[in-house]
Amino acid sequence: MKQDLLNWIRPEIRALKAYQVADASGLVKLDAMENPYCLPAEVLDQAQSGLLNAAINRYPDPAARVLRARIAEVMQLPAVAETVLGNGSDELIQMLIMAVAGAGRSVMSFEPGFVMYNMISRFVGVDYAGVPLTKNFAIDMAATEAAIAKQQPALIFIAYPNNPTGNLFAAEDIERIIKIAPGLVVIDEAYQPFAQHSFMPQLEHYEQLLVMRTVSKMGLAGLRLGVLCGHPELITEIDKIRLPYNINVLTQQTATIALQHIAVLEQQAARIREQRELMLQQLAALAGIEVFPSQANFILFRILQGNADDVFKHICDAGILIKNMKASAGSLKNCLRVTVGKSEENTAFMQALQAALA
Ligand code: PMP
Repeated sequence: MKQDLLNWIRPEIRALKAYQVADASGLVKLDAMENPYCLPAEVLDQAQSGLLNAAINRYPDPAARVLRARIAEVMQLPAVAETVLGNGSDELIQMLIMAVAGAGRSVMSFEPGFVMYNMISRFVGVDYAGVPLTKNFAIDMAATEAAIAKQQPALIFIAYPNNPTGNLFAAEDIERIIKIAPGLVVIDEAYQPFAQHSFMPQLEHYEQLLVMRTVSKMGLAGLRLGVLCGHPELITEIDKIRLPYNINVLTQQTATIALQHIAVLEQQAARIREQRELMLQQLAALAGIEVFPSQANFILFRILQGNADDVFKHICDAGILIKNMKASAGSLKNCLRVTVGKSEENTAFMQALQAALA
């Protein structure tokens, strides 16, 4: 291709590496924090008959009213708050950053953290500041307060629990950040079903606070549906950036039915939490690794003897795909991340890991 054509692409975009999604064909998939369980047959049947009647020749309801009403009920949205939906919470992160971007504006979060806050800031051309977490992946309050005072961030993202570390930050640290932030604070509760702690009730007290959820980790990742909750006036502004029909007819129908069966999804989350506790114990008993606490549906661990790339490859050769954090230095050095799967998948992973460490 002619170089002068490529030069029309902004240099900061050309400098980026695309978000990598590994090919999982034929492998046990423990890399992407999905829920391993499907919906029960009777719920699937109900969803399928709903789809047969879906008017796919028509645009969807732009405001997704039926689905938003169901979400408000299931997620216990406080009466003071409103919602806007995204095509996954990734799209909500994009809408939020676009809403604040401008000269002199910045976005803040923590490192290591969810990569999309940083990547989308670059797409949109806004400064991103990642405040380093402590060695134990807690919020470094002195560094955070200094960064807030200096940067005056328009938007602060706090993943609760954090990805890729899996821990829940101290609620009092988060509350302090909400109080001193000059702009908006988004608590990203993607992993809330596994942590069972939430800032949703705090929406009553702080108008600068937004709480973000997703159905992805609840067992509906394929639908692509995220929810942003907050003060109605803020939600109205963010909604202006949303593309008119971002939640398609099939997702609106299927999610409305699936959320009618929230008890089933909650039972699945409970099984995942049980499996996580078991895996945490088993990993803690292994020599040669350091395992980090998790309140999410994944576990971060460090290879202390040998090389994480070799261990990753060994586990992959055994037919199991996990996530290699690919860090040769820094706080994620030699770290791997495994998603909690079904009991038999987790057993196969533990066997493969033990063999790799032997
Ligand atoms: N927030 C966090 C902290 C995540 O880890 C993820 C996905 N890995 C997302 C948001 C995005 O989720 P989705 O777009 O599937 O809703």
